[in-house]
Parts: sequence; structure tokens; C-alpha cells
Amino acid sequence: MANDSLRRLASDFKTFLAAQDEDEFVSAAAPLRAAAAVSGGEPAPKPLPKMPEGETLTVEFPRADLPVAEKPSPTVLAPSAAPMAGQACSAAPAGNTPQPAPSTANELLMNTAQKTAALAELAETIKTCTRCPLGATRLNAVPGEGNVDAEVMFVGEGPGFDEDRQGRPFVGRAGQLLDKMIVAMGLTREQVFIANIAKCHPMTDPLHPEKHGNDRAPNAEEIACCRKYIEKQISIICPKYVVALGGVAAKALIADAKSLGALRGQFYDLHLDSVTLPRPVKILATFHPAALLRNPGWKKDAWTDLQMVMDQLGLQGARK
Ligand code: SF4
Repeated sequence: MANDSLRRLASDFKTFLAAQDEDEFVSAAAPLRAAAAVSGGEPAPKPLPKMPEGETLTVEFPRADLPVAEKPSPTVLAPSAAPMAGQACSAAPAGNTPQPAPSTANELLMNTAQKTAALAELAETIKTCTRCPLGATRLNAVPGEGNVDAEVMFVGEGPGFDEDRQGRPFVGRAGQLLDKMIVAMGLTREQVFIANIAKCHPMTDPLHPEKHGNDRAPNAEEIACCRKYIEKQISIICPKYVVALGGVAAKALIADAKSLGALRGQFYDLHLDSVTLPRPVKILATFHPAALLRNPGWKKDAWTDLQMVMDQLGLQGARK
């Protein structure tokens, strides 16, 4: 009996590792998870594989460039004038806004209605924001969407072609794979919150937004301009876990210059610059779904990462 279980587990694991298409993510992941449960509860600790080549980052992300007046505010952040391309983040002059008195953790925790209202108000601010040059070339800002009481929040780097057109995060091919990853964890898209560090579409050729293959990662200045929005969203939702998708989001939120390969495999305490978290939040880094589409062989590593969150939340994963 024990040998049968082991043989089945080995067979399912082999199938999962062989998955080369995003459609196979769930079907391959589910039996692996289920077999682990059948064979004796929690799966044995898995050694983390080495990071494949190609995910090393070289840019730095300044975190504390905002003047004092831009620091934590319990209310929605107001937009300011658009900067010219190449200029640093447009920010309100220091001293215009009084610094709010420090809040206690209990005062900062919101109920569902308060979260919904605060996120909606913040989304409206984002939709009219022109703090960085991306605001002048976007078709639609993409604030993010999902469950305001989510235990897990996924954060990518920025919207792409499809997201720019729909104003929704992760709705292209990468988004479809993210949906499958979420389902494989035993969750649904409606149970999590999905957002990006940058809320507007970074393009390699902003003069031709109609072009496909025009996506790029947000640069350091754009991230510095926009990061207060994702920080505010995280503080409002206050999930148990943030999953940073890709090296850009991981490096920006974990505030570490290491490569994604070095950041993966462990939880970090999340510390934000512009807001105080009502309670501790853990962050984990894994691959961006777009990177998994380009490198299907990395899926097993992404699954290893997601299982760390599943184990913490007691999720058994999708079942066939
Ligand atoms: S990317 Fe962020 S900071 Fe820049 S215009 Fe859009 S919402 Fe504003």
C-alpha cells in the first residue's frame, strides 16, 4: 500500500515537472498536492532549486524620496501636476499638508465596508494620477482588483498591452496563467487581490501604444512615484501574505538588491515606507507568470514557492 502511494506520488511529480503549457498547471499541480496529502499529511520539506539564468535585476529602487508631506495619510492621496518625461516624480511641496498624528494598530484596521470605500477612493485617485510620465501615455490606469479581505495579495510590476486597454490587472496570457496558479493553490481570483507596483502601462515606444510587444518594466523613477499607491492598498487590505510576482516587484517591496533567485525561498516581514501596517504581513517572491510563459521549465519552482504560502494557510490545492 505504501509502495503504491509512493509510486503514484513519483508518477504525478514526473507529470508535473513535464508540464510545458500553462493549461497543464492546474491538472499537473493538483494530483501532486493530493498525493502528498494521501501519503501522510504535509509534504516533506523540499530543497529549493537554484534560480535559472536570466532573472537578475540591475536597477535600484529608491524608497524614501517623497517629502514629509507625502508620508502616511489615513485619507486618499491627492494627484499632483504631471512631470515632463525624464523628470523625477512630481510631488506636492513639502509643508503643505500637516503630518497626521500616529495611529495605533487598532485604529488602522478597517472593516470590509471601510476597506471597500478606501480602495475605491484610492482607485479614483490613481485613475487621474499624472505624477510620472506614464500618466500621459496610458490608455487606462490599472489600480488593481479583488477581494478587499483577501488573505493573499499578488503584486506584479506593471500593466501590459491588454491591461492598459481593459483597466484591469493580469488579463492577458500571463493573467490567464496567474488564474491557473491561483486555482492550483485552491483559491479563486475572487478570493485574492491582484495589483501592480506601477499602475500605468510602461512602454518601450510610448508614441505607438497600439503596438504589441511594447511592454517594459517600470523604471526606478516610475516605481518611486507610484509605490505609495501599492503601499496604501496593502495597508488597507492587510493580507496575511503578499506574493511578489517577478524580480521587479520582489526587489521593490522587499527592498533588497538581491536577484529574484536569491530572494525566493523564504518569507520576509513586509515593511513599507509611506504607511504603517495594522498588523504584520509576510511577503514571498516568485516568478512573474510572463516569465513562466517564456520559460515553462520554471513552473516547478513557482509551484514550490506557492506551496509555501499554501502550507501556511492550510490550503490543500485544487483537486481534479
Ligand atoms: S504610474 Fe503611478 S505615479 Fe505614474 S501616473 Fe500612473 S498612477 Fe501616477
